[in-house]
Amino acid sequence: MIQTTGYAVSGPEAEFEVLNFERREVGRADILIEILFCGICHSDIHQARGEWGNSTYPMVPGHEIVGRVAQVGGDVTKFAVGDIAGIGCFVDSCRTCSSCTADCEQFCKVHCSATYNGKEMDKTTPTYGGYSKHYVVDEAYALKIAADQNLAAVAPLLCAGITTYSPLKRFNARPGQKVGVVGLGGLGHMGVKLAVSMGAEVTVFSTSPSKKEDALKLGAHHFVLTTDPAHLTPLKGTYDLIVDAVSADHDLNIYLSLLAINGVMVMVGLPSDPPSFRPFSLLSNNRSLVGSSIGGIKETQEMLDYCAAHNITSDVEVIPMERVPEAYERTIKSDVRYRFVIDLKSF
Ligand code: NAP
Ligand code: ZN
Repeated sequence: MIQTTGYAVSGPEAEFEVLNFERREVGRADILIEILFCGICHSDIHQARGEWGNSTYPMVPGHEIVGRVAQVGGDVTKFAVGDIAGIGCFVDSCRTCSSCTADCEQFCKVHCSATYNGKEMDKTTPTYGGYSKHYVVDEAYALKIAADQNLAAVAPLLCAGITTYSPLKRFNARPGQKVGVVGLGGLGHMGVKLAVSMGAEVTVFSTSPSKKEDALKLGAHHFVLTTDPAHLTPLKGTYDLIVDAVSADHDLNIYLSLLAINGVMVMVGLPSDPPSFRPFSLLSNNRSLVGSSIGGIKETQEMLDYCAAHNITSDVEVIPMERVPEAYERTIKSDVRYRFVIDLKSF
């Protein structure tokens, strides 16, 4: 076994503590990654604090992982020692069900092995995430990352990037289309950069007046402060696509009412309480309310290659491990510009 060290919580209200634990030996198809950077996704906070009701402890969060390959198994072909590799939200799946063969491993019908707060394919061994020094992963579930990039700023692409890229591609964000992004956080700011790069006319809907300047710098064409409903009334029925990336409970009716004929609102945010909406908000203009969950390995690689080609990375605040608790508090207060990323060097 490979000894490693992580930062873990032992329960929903526990403080983070250093945890020594073991990764499996490097198997024939595995690579050992020395983690360089790991982003802090709001899903880490939801799960560390038990907000989704599915948490197991001790938990080492982290699913926006970038690192250097330190060892490769005998059958590995995709990576060599020294390459840069990434890990996103899952590390294995059955590979044969209709979801896996359709490149949607995140919906594996047998078992999708989450990067942390999950189980390995034996459905018994717990998985521990990227707030740690090493990860052992099957090469088929690791992503290739070009080394000549700001790797701290690439890490958030592994979750925030793919989660917004996937629905923007699915609903064909393009020139002439009006796209709204609700919530300018980790996911939201990636949604803005990606939708702008695809040529759409982009509006940020935000509760934070201080983010207006940033939104425009990120490339958004419009910024709407949602704390005053009067700002939204003139926009009713005008949007083709709205990506809702809000982490807390909020009123969906307001945003549904902004959709034009056949407009689509995509939920990517995962507040713990079930949202409610009036059917009338949907029926009018034949609107759709849909969901989207991360992306498969193939699409995640496509997104990473797209971002490298278009010079798109995340805006990050790089912190040492001991500042994770402070980063959680600030993320909850929407005080992050726009993703905290842990630098493992000092850990
Ligand atoms: P984040 O960085 O904390 O951003 C969330 C944003 O939501 C905030 O910046 C804020 O934007 C807005 N917000 C927060 N509290 C609010 C409130 N009470 N009312 C209205 N707006 C509020 O979070 P994230 O990492 O981007 O994640 C966002 C959500 O997506 C989380 O629930 C996360 O679990 C989920 N998620 C889903 C997937 C998926 O596959 N679908 C993947 C990753 C994450 P403003 O300041 O602009 O208002
Ligand atoms: Zn995430």
